[in-house]
Amino acid sequence: VRRETVLQLLTLAGIVVGSFFLHSCMAGPRYHEPVTVGEVAAPPRILVGLGKFVRVDAAPLLVRGDYAIHGDKGVIERGRGMSAPVELRWQDGVRVGAIATSEPIVRIVPAADGDLEVGGIRYRGELHVMRDDDKGGAPKITLANQIDLEGYLKGVVGSEMSLSQGIEALKAQSIAARTYAMFEVKSRTLRTVKGEKFDVYDDDRSQVYLGIKNESARAIEVVDATRGMFMIYNGRIFKTFFSSTCGGSTEPAHIVLGREADDIPPLNGTRCGDGVHAYCEGSKHFRWTVTLMKVDLVKKLFPDKPQTAIERIEITRKLAGGHAWEIAITVAGSSKKVTMGANDGFRRRVDPRVIKSTLWEDLQEDAEKVVITGRGWGHACGLCQYGAYRMAELGFSAVQICENYYPQAKVQKLY
Ligand SMILES: [Zn+2]
Repeated sequence: VRRETVLQLLTLAGIVVGSFFLHSCMAGPRYHEPVTVGEVAAPPRILVGLGKFVRVDAAPLLVRGDYAIHGDKGVIERGRGMSAPVELRWQDGVRVGAIATSEPIVRIVPAADGDLEVGGIRYRGELHVMRDDDKGGAPKITLANQIDLEGYLKGVVGSEMSLSQGIEALKAQSIAARTYAMFEVKSRTLRTVKGEKFDVYDDDRSQVYLGIKNESARAIEVVDATRGMFMIYNGRIFKTFFSSTCGGSTEPAHIVLGREADDIPPLNGTRCGDGVHAYCEGSKHFRWTVTLMKVDLVKKLFPDKPQTAIERIEITRKLAGGHAWEIAITVAGSSKKVTMGANDGFRRRVDPRVIKSTLWEDLQEDAEKVVITGRGWGHACGLCQYGAYRMAELGFSAVQICENYYPQAKVQKLY
């Protein structure tokens, strides 16, 4: 029934035609190159773009012990202890401490793991400093941390998850985080689609990673306990999205997140609960109310027409799990309604931290304001983090939690 409802919605929205077009005959970068199980035999190295130092002029660097600076053809210099900025200098060459080089990529490799510090954060692995001209063609540098995938996950688990929660929930999330990262490494989508020079961002554009900062004994335990475990569907690794609190149902990722997501059963939405209670109802984001002033909405939604007066906002289409998919806004003096996506068009443009989700139970308005009562936080695709915490409390295993939120996918250990 759910599948049929989704299909009806798709047909209504005319997205069937759109997605056929995207999948089969659109020229240009593809989001989902298939990543097969056979491609994964050992933890790869992952290149994590440091979000604060993407296309900048300089960045503060500290190396504590022995280190080597590598260029394309080998070691440029060895040294011990360095506290200096890396900078772009001298006809676009890269300067690291006392060394200047015209190489497009310079690698700073500490002898001891964890001796590297960039912008006050310590990292395992090595630092890549890459020439990366900005969109206007001005020369810049981008910094990325290269580390093995399992080491990276220890930082992610400590940053993305609430470590006081049950171990099975944390293990489930580490499996999802590992699968997501592996997909990004193998499919190279940030490089082909976004033009970046690395595999993942270190912030919520991918998964939050702060080097060693948030590593802890428990984060390490969780990652080690699930080493090499991935979500597999049909012999393939897929992009395992997750969000904080779904509100009771997850939604089809390819509709909510667009062509970044595969249209496959594990990502097409499922129930988060036992039919009576939502698993995530213990989340502090489970129910919320927000008051939005209409003058502020106009500034964000109609920046070119500040005189616009919003008369009425209504939901015109919903997804199978109840999240608003499209809204229509009636403005004074116009007989035509302005329609927009509830998430990308409305929530993201207004403020996704204030409007926590598009699962709206109630929408009240008067001339000045709109009051939305809603449930959940985030895009509600894939694993629901608070739902996973509750499932662990109820005695479900990590594998059961994963297989609940990614229906028809199985957990497999690949190394
Ligand atoms: Zn949930």
